[in-house]
Amino acid sequence: AYDVLIVGGGPAGAAAAIYAARKGIRTGIVAERFGGQVMDTLAIENFISVKATEGPKLVMALEEHVKEYEVDVMNLQRVVKLVPGSEDGSQLAEVHLENGAALKTRTVIIATGARWREMNVPGEQEFRGKGVAYCPHCDGPLFKGKRVAVIGGGNSGVEAAIDLAGIVGHVTLLEFDHDLRADAVLQRKLYSLPNVSVLKSAQTTEVTGTEKVNGLVYKDRTSGEAHRLELEGIFVQIGLLPNTDFLKGTLDLSRFGEVIIDPRTQTSVAGVFAAGDCTTVPYKQIVIAMGEGSKAALSAFDHLIRTSAP
Ligand code: FAD
Repeated sequence: AYDVLIVGGGPAGAAAAIYAARKGIRTGIVAERFGGQVMDTLAIENFISVKATEGPKLVMALEEHVKEYEVDVMNLQRVVKLVPGSEDGSQLAEVHLENGAALKTRTVIIATGARWREMNVPGEQEFRGKGVAYCPHCDGPLFKGKRVAVIGGGNSGVEAAIDLAGIVGHVTLLEFDHDLRADAVLQRKLYSLPNVSVLKSAQTTEVTGTEKVNGLVYKDRTSGEAHRLELEGIFVQIGLLPNTDFLKGTLDLSRFGEVIIDPRTQTSVAGVFAAGDCTTVPYKQIVIAMGEGSKAALSAFDHLIRTSAP
């Protein structure tokens, strides 16, 4: 049995593994795809102390660092079920894999990350990373002085538009519905900005470009007419989906499906901790996920020294 079993091999899971292994406890990591979202990232310019790097390069460094320690890395394995142990630690938790195996462990760290909800329109995949972006904190500065669209008028879309308006030349926010859903205070701020326009009842139907994005096509849902916008960037802000479906009914989740944790990463179930993009912690970023993963390992260790091994 493991002392700590980590589900997820992104920055949160890798950090948790290193912190746990450094305590000299039996540590395992199960990941559907080691590296997580970082594998899909081209340029990273906000990983503090590294001026610029690329996703796959950072993942290689993460893997090398994890392999410095005695960590069982079980890559390309999907977890389908968590059965928590008993509160006093007398009964072990079980982590069930898609291949039928069940791993026993004293504590569990959930670090399964999240994925951006996509528009599913022609051109979106083709121009991903070539003008189609999902993270304003990450990619905003790449569009300095240029024209961008933000898709989505919820809080994240409006926040993104306000944020980008300070960097880019012009922002067009497109909302599918007839009204923005963001908080009134954000909407007031948005409408006060000189370089932002807002299109409501606008359904994006296509991303266009040659080598890079050069525009988008949207349908005015009131008139049914199609229109084209010329621009260089598109930020899709229609939701972040945490990879927590397999935890429904086992752990308390927020209405967005995020694992609810306290400041020590404790979930609603004793002995189960969670870290990174799959949790309620705000701001989904690599440095934040690493910090949270480290916290989760320290909390799991704290839990272990307070409960006796079965
Ligand atoms: P993830 O990286 O999502 O890792 C989750 C892990 O869990 C993966 O190993 C996955 O395979 C695994 N997993 C999921 N479900 C299961 C399951 N059921 N069983 C087993 N394993 C499972 N952040 C920055 O700070 N700077 C940037 O420049 C930046 N650019 C980005 C660009 C793109 C295109 C994207 C998508 C994200 C970007 N981010 C950036 C955000 C950053 O990648 C995330 O915040 C970070 O990766 C979150 O780490 P995590 O470990 O919580 O989750």
